[in-house]
Amino acid sequence: MMCFSSRRGTLVVAVVAVLVGATALGPATAADQAGSPRGSGVEQRNVEWHAHGRDAFEQRYSPLQQITASNVANLGLAWFFDLEEHDVVEATPLVVDGIMYVVGPWGDTLYALDVKSGRKLWTYEANVPRETLVRACCQPVNRGATSDNGTIYFGTLDGRLVAVDAKSGRERWQTLTVDPSKAYTITGAPRVINGKVIIGNGGAEYDVRGYISAYDATTGKLLWRFYTVPGNPADGFENDAMEMAAATWTGEWWRFGGGGTVWDGMAYDPALNLLYIGVGNGTPWDQKMRSPGGGDNLFLASIVALNPDTGDYVWHYQTTPGENWDFTATQPIVLADMKIAGVDRKVLMQAPKNGFFYVVDRTNGKLISAKPIVAVNWATHVDLATGRPVETAGIRDTTDGPKVVSPGPSGSHNWNPMAFSPKTGLVYIPTLQSRYFFQSSDAYTYVPGYWNLGFDISIPMQFQLAGQERRSSSYMLAWDPVTQSEKWRVDGSGGGILATAGGLVFRGVATGRFAAYDAETGRELWSQDVQNGPVAGPISFQSGDDQYIAVAAGRGAATLMKGPVPQPALLPHANRVLAFKLGGSAKLPAYEYVPQPLRSPPTLQVSDDQVAKGRFAFHRFCFACHGREANGNKIQPDLRYSDYLDNGEWHDVVIEGALKDKGMVSFAAAIDADVSEAIRHYVVSEAQKAASRQQAQ
Ligand code: CA
Repeated sequence: MMCFSSRRGTLVVAVVAVLVGATALGPATAADQAGSPRGSGVEQRNVEWHAHGRDAFEQRYSPLQQITASNVANLGLAWFFDLEEHDVVEATPLVVDGIMYVVGPWGDTLYALDVKSGRKLWTYEANVPRETLVRACCQPVNRGATSDNGTIYFGTLDGRLVAVDAKSGRERWQTLTVDPSKAYTITGAPRVINGKVIIGNGGAEYDVRGYISAYDATTGKLLWRFYTVPGNPADGFENDAMEMAAATWTGEWWRFGGGGTVWDGMAYDPALNLLYIGVGNGTPWDQKMRSPGGGDNLFLASIVALNPDTGDYVWHYQTTPGENWDFTATQPIVLADMKIAGVDRKVLMQAPKNGFFYVVDRTNGKLISAKPIVAVNWATHVDLATGRPVETAGIRDTTDGPKVVSPGPSGSHNWNPMAFSPKTGLVYIPTLQSRYFFQSSDAYTYVPGYWNLGFDISIPMQFQLAGQERRSSSYMLAWDPVTQSEKWRVDGSGGGILATAGGLVFRGVATGRFAAYDAETGRELWSQDVQNGPVAGPISFQSGDDQYIAVAAGRGAATLMKGPVPQPALLPHANRVLAFKLGGSAKLPAYEYVPQPLRSPPTLQVSDDQVAKGRFAFHRFCFACHGREANGNKIQPDLRYSDYLDNGEWHDVVIEGALKDKGMVSFAAAIDADVSEAIRHYVVSEAQKAASRQQAQ
């Protein structure tokens, strides 16, 4: 078990003279010139962080260059601000006109902070109902806000879009963007284009039909909506694009929603007036269950270009035709202009989950190049002539047992922002090497409103138990998009990435640090223990004469994942916003790791049949919150140590919804009392195994 206090060590803070009067601003980039949010001058926009990916191109490149390789050793904490929530923090902060805006987990609280001191100016509370949690596939997260013309816009986990006055914190309007009878959520940030707020949603592990909407930035009125997968043809198609897409589906996909949610990546080219959106995976994952006759299943796993004024389809590029493995193309989209083979190209870049890095001509959607950034086994390569991947023979066939597929559903790159530096010409990608065991589930039946994957996801866990590791490893990759080749890599799991004109890249590191690297070589130049491995995208901004680097951190990484997992109330408070500047000398409070006292497991005599039945049901309905092998998922209550296992109230919680105010809703619509009891047997079996492992140690 990792003992936090012993490895914290002494906080070393270098104190240096603040560089007074030095200009922190480098040359403006092409993307600075147009397409940034309205309001505030160009100067202010260049030195602050007004939109989710900083600019319309979403490069996450700051032109500030006061902090460089030669002085970054003097970077120190300027201030920190503790967030109230105890959940995973994925938000990119904004800085607009001297105020920092941070959206907490759930999209529950918008914090406005003074950028020089971190002092709280006000908060806006969205009051998200806790029972929304059961619709969130992957923790109640929020990736942040955007700004336009004196207003801050963000989404809430329960599917609302909220507009708040940037100065006063007063609500301007809010609107429900989803059908609340379906398992939609919002975790991604909105974007604002030409006075319209663009927002997508999540829920493709459940049974939703993905779409993206545009609302009037001033009034909140719905202006257009673009669906990403076709509905029931008998109801007619919303547009020609849906008719075209429907020709690539078979069966009765609309009964399951089809998936294709737009839950994260977007970018905008002001000159072309094109909005680019990334589209997610299919529902169910297993294509045989969704579209039994095969087909490309447009627009799953695609990048789609839309006219942002009308929502009309312009072009698409599909990364994974017939998506089958949770290979979303929702990952961050970055635009840039570069010379390729001697020709100036306007490109769109993405590292979706499927293992390849794509460079696409953003004027027309034609593929320029695609190369793997990790070991990929589902396809041999991407054929440049057709733009399509060449699938490995038999990769979808699980009749003789599970297929091992690389990458796994976590993807070679997930939501953690990548950055592009026009100065180095490199893309910096938080990269994950993983694999997964896919097995079509004979026992699968469609259950409305709950996880509907079609695959038996208790299978990968069983293989792990049998000693076949999932073999995952992480690294930060510096990738040359022109030559599609690796420049350097830094091993170790980390979060989203920021590039700066000072020749640096910044990221959180899973071991609980925040670090700076030389953008050309990857050499680590500075790091500070921040008591948590930030996973969100860092930002940079200037206030007064100082360049700041800031990141929101919380429940991010391995620091909190070792040993018996404490209940949330016992976890130390490490959810906070951190801001650094040269000569910063603030100190974090002492941090003590307090392991939860373990209780003896119930003595219940479990039967193998019950455990097998319970394992299957647990990994369909419970594991997303409570973790594989009921391991507590590092965050949620660890059921292995729960009093409910044997206090006679298990079914009151699971079937009757006794804890719905804490997010644990009734599962009566999905499972009956027999299955609930089988799940209890399974969790008890895991509790007994955990106890004997601990005894053996
Ligand atoms: Ca998914």
